[in-house]
Amino acid sequence: MTLFQKIIAREIPADIVFEDDLCLAFRDISPKAPVHILVVPKRVIPRVAESLPADMELLGHLLFTAGQIARSEGVADSGFRLVINNGPDGGETVPHLHVHLLGGRPMAWPPG
Ligand code: 5GP
Repeated sequence: MTLFQKIIAREIPADIVFEDDLCLAFRDISPKAPVHILVVPKRVIPRVAESLPADMELLGHLLFTAGQIARSEGVADSGFRLVINNGPDGGETVPHLHVHLLGGRPMAWPPG
């Protein structure tokens, strides 16, 4: 069971901001911006490079949901960043696909 499956199952507490049949969104335990939320599919996809054609609708749902949460968090107009870390060089630490929603401050480009 992945760490995020345990959060989805309420075995580990989290500050949940949104849930539907397909995904859960909760605040990152170590926020890198004033708004830092993880949008996680309930069905485990380890990482985006291992997603399957059958996952396409779910992947779109995660992005759509992240946009809706950006609105509800009040950062849609000021701007925000969505990040998906994939593999070691990408900075992935939890092998359960998740979209980082970061906002509430200006973001540097390129990322470090
Ligand atoms: P990754 O590095 O895989 O892209 O992102 C994993 C994220 O999960 C990190 O930003 C990390 O702070 C967050 N994280 C790790 N453990 C927990 C936890 O127990 N609860 C919450 N809410 N976030 C976590």
